[in-house]
Amino acid sequence: MSLSEQQAAQLSAETVVVAAGRPPRERDEPVNQPIVLSSTYFGTGPLADGDRGYGRYSNPTWDPFEEALGQLEGASLPGLLYASGLAAVSSALSLIPAGGVLVMPSHSYAGSLVMATELAEKGMFELRTVDIADTDAVKELLAPADGKAASMLWLESPTNPMLGIADIRALTAAAHEAGAIVVTDNTFSTPLVQQPLSLGSDVVLHSVTKYLSGHSDVVLGALVTSDEKIRATLLHHRIIHGGIAGPFEAWLALRGLRTLALRIERSQASAAVLAERLSSDSRIESIRFPGLPTDPGHERAKSQMKSFGSVLNIQLAPAGGLSGADAADKLVRALQLWLPATSLGGVESLIERRRRHAAEPVSVPDNLVRLSVGIENVDDLWADLKQALDALDG
Ligand SMILES: *Cc1c(COP(=O)(O)O)cnc(C)c1O
Repeated sequence: MSLSEQQAAQLSAETVVVAAGRPPRERDEPVNQPIVLSSTYFGTGPLADGDRGYGRYSNPTWDPFEEALGQLEGASLPGLLYASGLAAVSSALSLIPAGGVLVMPSHSYAGSLVMATELAEKGMFELRTVDIADTDAVKELLAPADGKAASMLWLESPTNPMLGIADIRALTAAAHEAGAIVVTDNTFSTPLVQQPLSLGSDVVLHSVTKYLSGHSDVVLGALVTSDEKIRATLLHHRIIHGGIAGPFEAWLALRGLRTLALRIERSQASAAVLAERLSSDSRIESIRFPGLPTDPGHERAKSQMKSFGSVLNIQLAPAGGLSGADAADKLVRALQLWLPATSLGGVESLIERRRRHAAEPVSVPDNLVRLSVGIENVDDLWADLKQALDALDG
């Protein structure tokens, strides 16, 4: 491939997203990896390590994305692509030994929580959920004085959709002391904003569906680690459980990754402007955005994130005889530019009242609206929000 690990380490992430994962710089090589549509590979004799073998074991179309993501996260090994973020969650949870203990944020991504809860109910492991912003409470669950120590700590920071901030350094250190490995879901931040491996995490997880691919046209997931044993276990799980990426989706994800730095630069600048304007609006009861100096997670976020991402949440005040939840629904319906849809991290701005999902934890307030800021002009985005907020008064 075009960029060695050493070269990548010396370049800025803005350059790596463009330069990593390209075919060799040789005459007549294509500059983009072609899509390989083949379920099997020519071969005779016993399969050796490194042989492609079969389409569930490997595909050349995955390689450039996996290499680029590994380099961006500062890992010494390529990442692993999966069919979805949740396929990656499934593979990561398989690292917990039978009868082990998983400590997980009570406001993890809802799908991760549902999966962990169902596996725990089957007796695969014990699940302990906790407010991940409360460092002492997490430490207590990792190594209780009178109970079993944890085998895995799951981190998500900021959390989806509550935007709670975990102290990643302190918690990974405490987890390692307790003998647990640490998986960090870095979907909200991407490696351009936060690098969990450098903060001590063992494994980084992405829903590639979101910022990394960036155009709301792909469902994919990924894991990254620098630990050869862990990577081999994960790769084996991917082969045997079969949660593999389609070659076309992998190609689209790499195409999206090329513009990640530009997209993030624009969307987080706009998110900061919108957060500022929303925070002084009387129709809004509360706002969470780690970039706001008044946000409870601001100082901690500053210590571990390069910038603050472009997801925020607001809670609507009751208005015009409507409850906060009904005001939130009315706001979403009154928007003309923002797209009312689930998901986040695309070029288009998305907005959603989270509790419209039955699986969303009831501890997520029913008047909470999550905003994923896209790359449109910020004043157009604000004008649309403003007219929808004004409609609440009428
Ligand atoms: C969307 C999301 C996931 C799940 O990813 P899919 O690609 O939808 O399977 C996991 N974690 C976070 C934080 C997410 O936002």
